[in-house]
Amino acid sequence: MAQDLEQLRTHWRAWLETNCPDEMRDGPASEADICWGGANWQFASEAQEVWLRRCASVGITVPTWPKEYGGAGLTRDEEKILHQEMKRINARTPLQSFGIWMLGPALLAFGSDAQKQEILPPIARGEIRWCQGYSEPGAGSDLAGVQTRADDCGDHWVVNGQKIWTSYADKADWIFALVRTDRDAPKHKGISFVLIDMHSTGVSTRPIQLISGASPFCETFFDNVQVPKTQVVGQINRGWDVAKYLLTHEREMISAGGALMGGGRALGAVLADSETGNSDPILRADAMRAEIDGLAFGLTLERYKDQVEAGGSVGDASAMLKYAGTELNKRRQELIMGAEGSAALEWEAGLPGSWLRSKANSIEGGTSEVMLGIIAKRILGLPG
Ligand SMILES: Cc1cc2nc3c(=O)[nH]c(=O)nc-3n(C[C@H](O)[C@H](O)[C@H](O)COP(=O)(O)OP(=O)(O)OC[C@H]3O[C@@H](n4cnc5c(N)ncnc54)[C@H](O)[C@@H]3O)c2cc1C
Repeated sequence: MAQDLEQLRTHWRAWLETNCPDEMRDGPASEADICWGGANWQFASEAQEVWLRRCASVGITVPTWPKEYGGAGLTRDEEKILHQEMKRINARTPLQSFGIWMLGPALLAFGSDAQKQEILPPIARGEIRWCQGYSEPGAGSDLAGVQTRADDCGDHWVVNGQKIWTSYADKADWIFALVRTDRDAPKHKGISFVLIDMHSTGVSTRPIQLISGASPFCETFFDNVQVPKTQVVGQINRGWDVAKYLLTHEREMISAGGALMGGGRALGAVLADSETGNSDPILRADAMRAEIDGLAFGLTLERYKDQVEAGGSVGDASAMLKYAGTELNKRRQELIMGAEGSAALEWEAGLPGSWLRSKANSIEGGTSEVMLGIIAKRILGLPG
């Protein structure tokens, strides 16, 4: 087994040397350099396009998905080797998307064969960009309170309602959304999970301006939108099961920002280069504690991933991972701001942006307060 993995390492090392363009070997990309794909995607460079095409051709945009759906069929251990080799040459992630992080895993678990065959390969190739239609003006933390409704019209549904905070809705080709299909059922039992083409008649988006001037957020409106019944994932009125499963993946993905993984600079290195960080003993001690907590968190995350590979499920523990990971990342960003002193306030240097973004991490995918509620009730079994 170990020998097989070493052979695989040799294989990926050689493949990456030959196929990863030099321009894609500059480590984690800035926001502008991230490749999101989609029908209207404008590649930032020829190298970005070449890198995506080459990775997709061997299934490593989604390494653990089955080959028949555009993946490379790797196990977690094999994927780890690939990622280690990518990190060794500082290779950029070729593609990231809500399709890869959220919809794909949900479809693999709940989708019909036809849905998997039709939808997963274009996600893996970066051809279709998805957005997430969960939140509504009156349904954020209390997500099961969604009011966007789908009325049964024989072979199709007619959808009416509004979503909010739909990241990149104006750039997406399709949306996965929660809609109410039975208004008389208890609130968790009358929801369905549907896939809607953003170009359908009656779908519109309106950007939400933020104080920074730029924003990924949109409001999304549905006005008598016809949706074929084949576009329901899982059973009608049982969409809450799909929604919850998808959220465990979203939360696990967001939590990873808290570990000293994925290219984040070690705090020690940041402090060593900084104005005040090197000489302040309190800051150094705090950074050391955060660093150790980050390493422990990284190992915990790995343990849960191995548990999933062995046939288990992260389930409610994703709330714990999300809470710990996002709070840790906030601590990390505070320490970096403290170490850099007045230099941290320069907007152009990017530090204030990362610091503010870490706060959004503890809101998106469910707030830290709500994660604590889930941990208390469902993991610790405390009375509600
Ligand atoms: C960066 C970012 C990207 C996002 N992208 C998307 C997206 O693409 N698609 C999408 O559908 N949504 C998206 N969201 C929305 C996000 O999922 C919601 O903001 C989140 O679920 C919280 O809901 P809310 O904003 O309605 O806050 P509310 O539910 O109104 O909460 C307000 C405050 O009350 C607290 N609170 C609420 N209920 C409880 C409780 N039971 N116990 C203790 N405290 C409680 C909350 O913690 C929070 O502090 C995004 C949000 C962010 C920040």
